[in-house]
This record gives sequence, C-alpha cells and structure tokens, in this order.
Amino acid sequence: MIRDEIHERALGAYLGFAVGDALGATVAYMTPTEIQHAYGMHRDMIGGGWLKLKPGQITDDTQMSLALGQSIIDSGGWNAAAADAFAGWLKTRPVDVGNTCRRGIQRYMTDGTLEGPSNDGDGGNGACTRNLPLALATLHDDTAFARATRAQCHLTHHHPLSDAATLALGKMAQTLIHSGGIKGCRVEANRLTADFPVFRFEPYPKRASGYIVDTTQTVLYYFFRTDSFESCMTEVVNRGEDADTNGALAGMLAGAAYGVSGIPGYWLRKLDRDIKARIEAQTDALLMLAQAGRQDTR
Ligand code: MN
Ligand code: MN
Repeated sequence: MIRDEIHERALGAYLGFAVGDALGATVAYMTPTEIQHAYGMHRDMIGGGWLKLKPGQITDDTQMSLALGQSIIDSGGWNAAAADAFAGWLKTRPVDVGNTCRRGIQRYMTDGTLEGPSNDGDGGNGACTRNLPLALATLHDDTAFARATRAQCHLTHHHPLSDAATLALGKMAQTLIHSGGIKGCRVEANRLTADFPVFRFEPYPKRASGYIVDTTQTVLYYFFRTDSFESCMTEVVNRGEDADTNGALAGMLAGAAYGVSGIPGYWLRKLDRDIKARIEAQTDALLMLAQAGRQDTR
C-alpha cells in the first residue's frame, strides 16, 4: 500500500468528493435564500433533501465515479469497459441520474456506440463530475489523461465546454496531488479562462446550476477564495442549485489541496462506511496503476 503525501492528497480528493456529494445533496435544487430559511448556514451532514437521503448517503456523482474507478481497476487502465460499468450502474435503479447521462448510457445499450454526435444540449456537468478516478490512474501521464478523459466524457456528453472543464479540473486535481500547490492550480485555471473566457469566475456570476459553466465557476470561485476544506465546502453547498455535484467537485479540489487530514472528522465519520471503504481501496489501486504506467513509459 502506498502511504505517502501523494496518497494523502489523492485520498483527500476522493473522500472530499464524496463528502461534498453527501453534504450538498441536502440542499440540492434549493436557492440560497431557501437554504438560509431552512438551515441558516447548512453545514451538518444530515441527509434528507429532495432525494430523502440517510445522513452520509451519497448520490449518482459518487456512484458513477466508483463505477468508472472499478472498471479502470478491473481492466488495468481506461478502456471502453467503462460503458458497461455505467450500463450496469443504471440497471441498479440509482437514486438520481442526470438526463444527459441516462440518454448517453441508453444510446450505448441500444447501439453499442461509445459516443454520440457533438450536441449543444450536452453541456451538463455529468461527465466532468465522475472523472477523478481516471485522473488518479493517469497521474503521471498527461497524454493518456487527455486522451482517456475525452473518451470518458463522450460516452454521455459530447460538448466542447464539458471537455474543456473536465480536462482543466482533472489537471488541477493532479497538480494539487503532485504538490504543485494552489498557485500551480491557479495557473491551470487561468489557462482555462484564457482559452475559454466563458469560464471566467471573477466577479462570481452567482449561478450554480448543473450547466458545466455554472458548476466550474462556482467551484473555482470558492476554492480560490477560501483557505480550508470546511470553508470551501460550506460556501459552495450554500449556493444551492446543483449543490451535490458542485460540492463534490469542490471537495475534490479542496481535498487534494488540504489532504485527508484537512477534512473535518465530523463529516468523514458520517460518510457512508461502505462508500468510504470502497474509496480507500480504489485510491490505492488507481495510484498503483498510475505508478505502473509511469514505469512503462520510461
Ligand atoms: Mn447527484
Ligand atoms: Mn447533482
């Protein structure tokens, strides 16, 4: 087992992701004002919400990530088996499924194709959200990361902004895990907003929907203006709207930046135990794959 700083930050990213999903789900599809009235500042992992979750229960964001991660581990790397993993997941009748994810998985189940045509309607955050396991498995191989990320996204979402945000957020997580620090991560964010000005997040446009632009702006704005996992997470989920997904992606970056030890114990202890154990096992296996990939290319 790998027990070093890279492992600490990689596990922080994956557990932080699940914590954000479980915390944010309570206030998903609410407005900031509605959240304020119902909870004051929402910060307790109490479940509930529109999905009527148990405290610490996660949603499709973490489930799809685990499905992708398991397929990468079972295949010894990224390949089209991920499509079967998503199809298998859809058959379990999950608590929530994004419309674009459902449509893409059903397309694969119907005709076996691994992507649909480029589609203006595919700008949701679903493909971006589940990409962390792939970023871990290709931690030391930029070319493999970029190629596999596009293929992964296109299983359900074929849209240039979805691709751009997924590549950028994955690269940011990798930079943080490599100890490039928040400054190094900012360089990646600046590259994204230079190439695609639509993602500019300062001043904050105050939209937190499931549109990939809104999600990316919300996550980046709060990640760069806070200095702890707790403050980043709390600010993001209290924006409401797609709070589970925005929380998950913010948790990925903040967990990578501050490490597992930066995630408050009162959230980690509440997180579904089975999910936590699967994340720990996958993180070990994905980092071992990343290490093996590095040796192959020497
Ligand atoms: Mn969800
Ligand atoms: Mn969501």
